Amino acid sequence: MIPSILPTYNRAPLSFQKGEGAWLTEADGTRYLDLGAGIAVNALGHANPDLVAALTEQANALWHVSNLYNIPAQQKLADLLVEHTFADTAFFTNSGTEACELAVKMARKHFHDAGQPERTDIITFTGSFHGRSSAGIAAAASEKMTKGFGPLLPGFVNLPFGDHEALSNAITDTTAAILIEPIQGEGGIRPVPDQCLKGLRDRCNYHGILLIFDEVQCGMGRTGKLFAHEWAGIAPDIMMVAKGIGGGFPLGAVLATEKAASGMTAGSHGSTYGGNPLACAVGARVMEIMTDPAFLPEVNRKAGLLRQGLESLVASHPGVFEAVRGNGLMLGLKCIAANTDVVAAGYGEHLLTVPAADNVVRLLPPLTLTDADISEALARLDRAAAKVQASES
Ligand SMILES: *Cc1c(COP(=O)(O)O)cnc(C)c1O
Repeated sequence: MIPSILPTYNRAPLSFQKGEGAWLTEADGTRYLDLGAGIAVNALGHANPDLVAALTEQANALWHVSNLYNIPAQQKLADLLVEHTFADTAFFTNSGTEACELAVKMARKHFHDAGQPERTDIITFTGSFHGRSSAGIAAAASEKMTKGFGPLLPGFVNLPFGDHEALSNAITDTTAAILIEPIQGEGGIRPVPDQCLKGLRDRCNYHGILLIFDEVQCGMGRTGKLFAHEWAGIAPDIMMVAKGIGGGFPLGAVLATEKAASGMTAGSHGSTYGGNPLACAVGARVMEIMTDPAFLPEVNRKAGLLRQGLESLVASHPGVFEAVRGNGLMLGLKCIAANTDVVAAGYGEHLLTVPAADNVVRLLPPLTLTDADISEALARLDRAAAKVQASES
């Protein structure tokens, strides 16, 4: 008999009742150290007092009004995003998938209105993840996500990750945009080197096409800059944001330059809940916290500590791990043992990590985790790795 919850997830036998900082607690009081943060969502930790205050204050005032009216919290969040990024304008969604939908629509409308309606194709890469909508799965194009769900939305050209020649050949008169995650998340914490991001920017400028970054997972302070592409010193034309921006409240956004967004006039797009007062009150608080000048330097300092510890972890368990990769607090342990065995051994040590493709264990802790949390995480990972090693030999 089918379960009352549609069984699209393989769930671990864990259930949490309460969260605080980087810790989650089960009903019987068992505490788990959370290095997954709801897959990079709880960027400021569980039950962050500032976010609880922002949410409850808004909840006591007004939950929802339509986008037919002005929404002050939405205006505040949009202004903060415009002030602190490349973008001139923002549209708010409830998820990363919806941000992908708009990014694709915006790119096509841009060229339609610019008198180049034949430019509709979006170039994407293997190993990418852009959400589970019809556009999202067509963009990522992996068999795991697309099989049985055809016919797929046309207009996506999926290329091998890192194949520069394939990219050169793929840009044609029908290309509208290149869509890429600066660091692949689901694909196994695979960073695109800075010089390649610069190269993509140059190619897009040369061909007059748009560059779209999906920073749903790697954005919002995760790499130690507000957005990951800032490390490369370049900017996209359109960017998808979600996950960390709401700190746990469902919120996403599409950020864009005035030029890229020029086709999006009144009536061309909309969302009932997108930009809802509750979500935006929390999002604005998240932005205020992350743009405090002291915030990102702390993320970088802690990322250095964790990274250093992980390098020695890998060195002391050569039968389990191969390498550390990623940037900031978006880190991957490339495994030799099965990544799912390492994640399961972590559960045994009351430690939460997240598996990713390419046999990687992902570490995406709250950006606010403490130095003591880092030491504890390394100790638990060390014990988990020792158990995996012992069970294999
Ligand atoms: C999670 C994710 C998405 C999809 O976001 P949802 O909120 O699950 O719809 C899209 N792109 C990337 C890079 C993601 O990590």
